[in-house]
Amino acid sequence: MPTSEPLPRGKVLLRDDPLPRGPWARLESDHAIVGEGSRRLFTFDLEGRLLEAFVDGVGYRRGLDNRFLERRRLPGAPGLSRRLRRHLSAAEARDVVDLACRTAARAREGGYPAVPALDFDALEDDARRFAAVYRPIGILPPDQYLSIVVQLTSGCWYNRCTFCTFYRDRRFEVRSPEALRRHIQEVKAFFGAGLLRRHTVFLGDANALVLPAARLVDALAAVREALDGREVFGFLDAFSGRRKQAPQWAELGEAGLRRVYVGAESGSDGVLRFLDKPGTAADVLANVRAMKEGGIGVGLILLLGAGGRAFAQEHVRQSIALVNAAGLGRGDQLLLSPLVIPQQAPYARLAAQAGIEPLSPAEVRQQAEAILSGVRLGRGARWSYYFVEEFLY
Ligand code: SF4
Repeated sequence: MPTSEPLPRGKVLLRDDPLPRGPWARLESDHAIVGEGSRRLFTFDLEGRLLEAFVDGVGYRRGLDNRFLERRRLPGAPGLSRRLRRHLSAAEARDVVDLACRTAARAREGGYPAVPALDFDALEDDARRFAAVYRPIGILPPDQYLSIVVQLTSGCWYNRCTFCTFYRDRRFEVRSPEALRRHIQEVKAFFGAGLLRRHTVFLGDANALVLPAARLVDALAAVREALDGREVFGFLDAFSGRRKQAPQWAELGEAGLRRVYVGAESGSDGVLRFLDKPGTAADVLANVRAMKEGGIGVGLILLLGAGGRAFAQEHVRQSIALVNAAGLGRGDQLLLSPLVIPQQAPYARLAAQAGIEPLSPAEVRQQAEAILSGVRLGRGARWSYYFVEEFLY
C-alpha cells in the first residue's frame, strides 16, 4: 500500500475511548474522523475530502463530483430500504461542509490532531479535476463504492437493455495499453493520499471483462503494478459468444482479478427477453460456472420486480433455480437490486404496451423474501440488497 507523510498528532483518542462531548478528531492510517460527541461525525480522506457525514440522525455521502446524497430512515415505509434518499442542493451541501470544517477547526483548537478538511470551494475545484480524469462513472456494486476505478473501457458494448441508461451517452471504447498507463497515473495523481482509503480496484466501465483474456492480463498487470497489488473487481453483464473458459478465468485470477459482478437480472428467459438482455439464463450459468471453476468470486445480481406482475412467479421460480444451480459459496455474493426505471429508458413504454404492471413496493419486498426463502447459499457466500439509487462515487 502507498505511504504518505505522517500528519501531526495532538491528543490521541483511541477507538475504544468514550467520545468527548465537544469536538474531537482521530487520525487513522487511511482516513480521519472528526466529531462532536456522537451526534456529529465527519469522515475525510487524507487529502481532506469529506467522504461521509452524520449530523443529528441524518447520514450524508459525498461523491467525488461533489454531489451529496442524504439518507434518513423512514420507519414503516412499505419498500425494502425504508430510507429516504435525496441529493442535496449546492447550498445544503455547502452547509454540511462548513459544519465539518468548523468542527475540524474546533477539534484542533482543543488539542486534537489537525485533520485536513477542504472547504466547499476547494471541493468544487477537486470535482473539476475529477471530471478531467474520469468519464462519468455510471454505477458500481455496493461494496465497491470506495474502490479505485480504472476505466480500461468506457461505456457498454451492448447498451440495449431496456431498463438501463447508464452508458447511453457514449460509445464503447477501449483504452490502448499506453493510454491505460497514462490514465492510471492521472488517477493516482488525482487521489493523492486519498488512495490509502481505497483498498480495491474496479475495472470499469460495464463489461470491461468482455475483452480477450490476454488483453485483460496485461491490463491487470499494469493496474496492480501501479496500485500496489490491490485486488481487482469488475462487471460482466452482457454475454456474447466469446465466453471465457475456466482456465482463462484462472489466468485472470492469478493476474489479480478477485470477483466478477454478473448482471444476471433473472433466471427466466422470458424476463431476459423482455429486458432485451443479450443471452439466456443458461449463458449466465455457464459463465458463472466457468468463473467459479477458475477460482473467481461471483457477485450474482438479480433485478427485483423485473417483468412486473406478469412475470413475477416465473421470475422468482427461475431465479431461485439459477442461484441454486450456480452453487454460490466462499467469496460469492447474491445481490438483490430493486428495479429502478430511468425516465429515458424504453422499459416503461414497453411494459405499458405489453400491459405489464409494475410491482408495488410491498410486492417487491415480498418478491425479495420469496427468493431468499428459496435460495441455498453455501458457506461463506453472502447476500445483500443493491440500491442503485444510493450510488455515488
Ligand atoms: S449490459 Fe449492463 S451496462 Fe450494458 S445496457 Fe445492459 S444492463 Fe446496461
